[in-house]
Amino acid sequence: MNPSRIIKGIPVSRGLALGPVHVVRATPKVVPTWSVPGPEVEREIDRLQDAIEVVSDELRRRHGIVSAQSGRKDADIFSVHRLYLEDPVNRKRVVSTIRDTRVNAEAAVQELIEHFRRTYGSLGGENLRDFAADFSDPWRMVLDVLLKREREQVVAKGDAVILAAGELTPQVVTALERDRILAVITETGGRFSHGAVLARSLGVPCVVGLPNLLSRLEQGLRVAVDGERGTVQLRPQPGDVDQFLERLERRRTRERKLSIHATLPSVTPDGHAFGLMVNLEALQDFDTFDVEHTDGVGLLRTEFMYQERQEFPSEEEQYRLYRRVIERMHGRPVTLRTLDIGNDKQLSYFKTPEETNPALGWRGLRITLEWQDLLRVQLRAALRAGAHGRLSLLLPMVTSVEEVRAVRHIYGEVRAQLVEQGYDLGEVTPLGVMVEVPSALLVLPRILEEADFISVGTNDLVQYLLAVDRDNPKVAGLYDPQHPAVIWALGHVAELARGARKPSSVCGEMAGDYATALMLMGMGFDSVSVVPQMLPEVKYAVRETVLGEAQGIARSVLEQHTSAGVGRVLAQARDRLHRRQLATGAEPPPGLESEGKETF
Ligand code: PEP
Ligand code: MG
Repeated sequence: MNPSRIIKGIPVSRGLALGPVHVVRATPKVVPTWSVPGPEVEREIDRLQDAIEVVSDELRRRHGIVSAQSGRKDADIFSVHRLYLEDPVNRKRVVSTIRDTRVNAEAAVQELIEHFRRTYGSLGGENLRDFAADFSDPWRMVLDVLLKREREQVVAKGDAVILAAGELTPQVVTALERDRILAVITETGGRFSHGAVLARSLGVPCVVGLPNLLSRLEQGLRVAVDGERGTVQLRPQPGDVDQFLERLERRRTRERKLSIHATLPSVTPDGHAFGLMVNLEALQDFDTFDVEHTDGVGLLRTEFMYQERQEFPSEEEQYRLYRRVIERMHGRPVTLRTLDIGNDKQLSYFKTPEETNPALGWRGLRITLEWQDLLRVQLRAALRAGAHGRLSLLLPMVTSVEEVRAVRHIYGEVRAQLVEQGYDLGEVTPLGVMVEVPSALLVLPRILEEADFISVGTNDLVQYLLAVDRDNPKVAGLYDPQHPAVIWALGHVAELARGARKPSSVCGEMAGDYATALMLMGMGFDSVSVVPQMLPEVKYAVRETVLGEAQGIARSVLEQHTSAGVGRVLAQARDRLHRRQLATGAEPPPGLESEGKETF
C-alpha cells in the first residue's frame, strides 16, 4: 500500500472531512486527470470500450436519421466518424496510454485529441485544420460520455464524497447536492473567488492551492481534509484517522460552546452595539444558522436565486421568494442586493458577450441599468415583499453619483406605480450603495448625499484597488485584503460615513475573520455582514472586546506600512483574545487554539 502523504495548500473554508475522493470536471475546458491503481487498469479500459460502443451506436443512429431526412450524402459524415472511431491505431494509442501511464480513460482520450491537434492543427490551410477537428469529433463524444458516466455513477451511488478539481469554481462547489459534499479540494483558486465565497457560505470545508493534486489522486481514494490548516492527507492510516476523529469531536464541542454565546446580543462588554448580520444566497442557507443569532441579513445575493432557474424569474416568483426571506427574519432587517450578474456569475439563459476583461466589463448595475426591465421587475417584487417586514435595497458595482440617481429615479417610478395599483407598501425602503469600486470610494462624500446607507464589498474593492483579478488563480497570491491601501480605504470609508451620519457596513468576506471584524468596529463601522459559518466566532470576539481595544487595533493597523505589519497587529489581537480565554478557562474559538491558524 502507498504510504500516507500530506499535501499543504491554502485553507479557504473551515471544517474537517474524511472520505472518498471524487474528481470532477473543473471547467468544461479542463479534463480531469487522475492516476489509476494497477489492479483497476483493466476496468478503466472497459470503461473506455463501453463509451466507444455508446458513441458508435449514436453515430449509427444519427446516420439513419439524416439519411432518411436529407439523403445518404449528408449522412456520410457519420460513417466517416465511425471509421475514425474504429481505427485500430487510434484505439491502441488510447489503450496504451491508460496501461503505460496508468491514467483515467478521460485523460487518455484527451491525449489522443491533443495528438490530432499537434499533428494536423498546426499545418497551414483551413482544410487541414478542419481535418483535425473531424478526426477529433467522435473522440470528443467519447470524452463527453465518459465524463457524464462518471458523474452519473457518483450521483447514483449516493455516497458523500470529497470533490477534487483543477480549479475552484461555483460549478465545482455545486456539482452535487450539499449533503453529498464532505469537502472540496482543488489545485488552484483564490480565497476570495466566487467559488470560495460559495464554499464558505454553504459551510463546505475547502482547501485550494494543492500542487499536482489530481495526478496524485485515484477515484475513490480516502483522504482527510483539514480546512483549518489547509492540508489534505492521502491514505490516512488508522492512527491518523483516530486523531482526526478526536479533533472533529473537539471541534464539535467548541462549536456547541460558541453557540451558547451566539444566543446573546452582539454588544461589547462596555455596551457598544455592533451589528452582526449574515450574507445569504439561497433559502437553503437558513438551514445553516439560527435567525435569533443575527441582527439581520446584511447582503442577500439575489443572483444565485436567478442562477437556479431556466429563465428569468417572474415578478410573482421573486416576490414570493423575497417575502419568504423577509418573513423568516422575523422583523430583522433584510438588505436585498439588486441583480449582480456578469463576470463569472453568469445565467445559462442570459449570455453576456465574451469580454477580454469581464471584471471590468458588463456586470452588476451596468447590466440592469441597460436592461431596465430586469431592474424594474426586481424592484417591484422587492418593494411588494418589503411590506411584510424591514427591507433595504443595495446597489452593486456603483461607480458614480449618476448611477445612484438613475436608480433612484426608476425606484421612484416603480414605487409610484405600485401605489397607484393599490399596493400598500408601508415605510419607504432605504436605498444603499455598495462601495466596491475605487471611483465610488473617491466620490464617496457625494454618494453619501444620495445614499441612505453604504456597505463595503471588499471582495471586489480589493481586486480593483490592487489590480488583482479575484478569480485568477495565477495572481491569487497577490490578492491581499491586508494591504495597507485596503486598510486605509476602509478607515476612510468609516470616517466619511460617520461624518455624514449614514449607517455603514462591510459585507465582503474579510469581515468574517473575527480580528478583522474587531478592526472594522474600531474604525467606526456600524456593522459587518458575514457568512453564517462565521457568525459564532465574530459574535464571541465582539462580546469579549471593549470598544477602546477595538479602536486601538484600528489605530495600529492604520499606522502600518506593510501588509505583514497589518497581519501582525491582527495576530496580536487574536492572541490577546486567546490568552483572556485561557485565563477564564473557557474554550478559545477555532483558529485561536495553538494547533490551528487564523482563517485568512
Ligand atoms: C464584494 O464584492 O465584496 C461582495 C460582497 O460582493 P460579491 O462577492 O458578490 O461580488
Ligand atoms: Mg462585489
